[in-house]
Amino acid sequence: MSTTENDLLGNGAAAIDSLPAGHFIGGRFTGPGSRRVVLNPATGDVLCEVADGGEAEVDQAVRAAVEAGRGWRRTTPGERAEALLAIADAIDENAALLAEAESLNTGKPLTVSQVEVPSSSDIFRFMAGAARTAQAPAAGEYLRGHFSVIRREPVGVVGAIAPWNYPLMIAAWKTAPALAAGNTLVLKPSELTPLTALLLAGLTSGILPPGVFNVVLGDGPDVGASLSTMSGVDMVSFTGSVRGGRAVASAAGQTTKRLHLELGGKAPVVVFADADLDAAAAGIRAAGFWNSGQDCGAATRVLCDVSVAGELTERLVAAADSLVVGDPREGGQVELGPLISETQRRRVTRMVDNAISAGAVRATGGGAVDRAGYFYRPTVLSHVDSDSEVAQQEIFGPVVSVETFAGEREAAAKANAPDYGLSASVWTNDISRALRVTDELHFGTVWTNTHLATASEMPWVGFGSSGYGRDMSTYALDDHTRTKHVMIALSGQPEPPAEGVSR
Ligand code: NAD
Repeated sequence: MSTTENDLLGNGAAAIDSLPAGHFIGGRFTGPGSRRVVLNPATGDVLCEVADGGEAEVDQAVRAAVEAGRGWRRTTPGERAEALLAIADAIDENAALLAEAESLNTGKPLTVSQVEVPSSSDIFRFMAGAARTAQAPAAGEYLRGHFSVIRREPVGVVGAIAPWNYPLMIAAWKTAPALAAGNTLVLKPSELTPLTALLLAGLTSGILPPGVFNVVLGDGPDVGASLSTMSGVDMVSFTGSVRGGRAVASAAGQTTKRLHLELGGKAPVVVFADADLDAAAAGIRAAGFWNSGQDCGAATRVLCDVSVAGELTERLVAAADSLVVGDPREGGQVELGPLISETQRRRVTRMVDNAISAGAVRATGGGAVDRAGYFYRPTVLSHVDSDSEVAQQEIFGPVVSVETFAGEREAAAKANAPDYGLSASVWTNDISRALRVTDELHFGTVWTNTHLATASEMPWVGFGSSGYGRDMSTYALDDHTRTKHVMIALSGQPEPPAEGVSR
């Protein structure tokens, strides 16, 4: 690679070099302790070392969050909004640096990181406004002589556990509603991708009072498990795999913490014969291979009307073959980066090999790219059995599989078959059909003639094994508040309990 190419992510590299790579607790970065290496997935080389925590650091951070909560929960929505808007401005002012650091840490193309940074600041802006308009249900006299009112209060300390696929964006999805509602937070980023969470922590210092936002680095079994069980944590907000979410839920259940779970997905892309096949292929190219398919809503499971499956597969092969694969440092034309780790590449390889052994046809791709880093070739599998592993399980790789159906009923039944229920799309030019099929689909988001688009005003939520926590929108704010019924005897005299029925 030439010097110029190496310099392409120079801001991000400089930010990583100067990163205070400790935990962020009580408004300060801690000094060096145990260390863990962070790899660049595009090369397999060591990018940097950061702190590696455990129960002791979680304990310190939770104490700092409890202490800071005494003041933060009493701030007005307007005061919290000012802080959230300042964080959004700081993210935007440092957009280039954040995008470059994210691309170096995840291997994703810069064009992908550059979309995630403004979505991250936008959720802070949205929550700043939403907190000021949040309403409690009607107040009034529901029991004669008694005035009732609902107070919406913060839950307390939120332990937030995030995955590696969108490190900054999911940190923002977790942090913004929690802080807007008056909670304090301890964030644990993925051990594979801690860098933008640390940069975000640095940006918040000077804006948030110390201890309102803390970051503890480390892995799931140590830091994640401690956050899930430690007294002082009132709510665990988890985004990650179904397996991880279930582990967190059973641990958090021991102390009855509130849970917010955003788990894996297997999004069906249901293409009817009347759809614009060029548009569908373009949509699948964008949303199936986006972030190398490492997206909980990735458009990697295509269900196509049997009469047009051949035509669509041809277009998908052309789309996959046209993708520019590379290291983000190779420039803006790169569309597909590596997978996050060798473990992830082995999993994708195994699932593709199993699918082919089970009768699927490798229409294009398959196998590792012959270069350093964890690259996998953009792949299309056709003639996939709807009951097979690749059709039912999340693959999290650049692999689009094509199954067929005949008729709306079979399309919906096949789409709904996996346990996941996060997102789905329907491709048709018949709006009545789109509405009929949408009604049958058991997913938290159903798109028509598009896939993967989100808006800060709208919730992102799963059904079934995909969890039930609502990210983004005012629903996320609801998930981060608790309701307190306050009743006042209007006469100022205590009433006998026998009077305590509403009428
Ligand atoms: P993961 O479950 O392995 O890890 C997620 C986070 O949980 C990491 O920080 C990890 O260290 C931690 N963790 C793991 N085991 C834990 C345990 N026992 N206790 C506490 N913490 C634990 O998931 P991943 O591989 O990092 O991320 C990919 C998964 O995330 C995919 O399944 C993807 O679909 C899902 N995801 C879902 C959404 C959504 O919005 N629903 C968004 C992004 C990713």
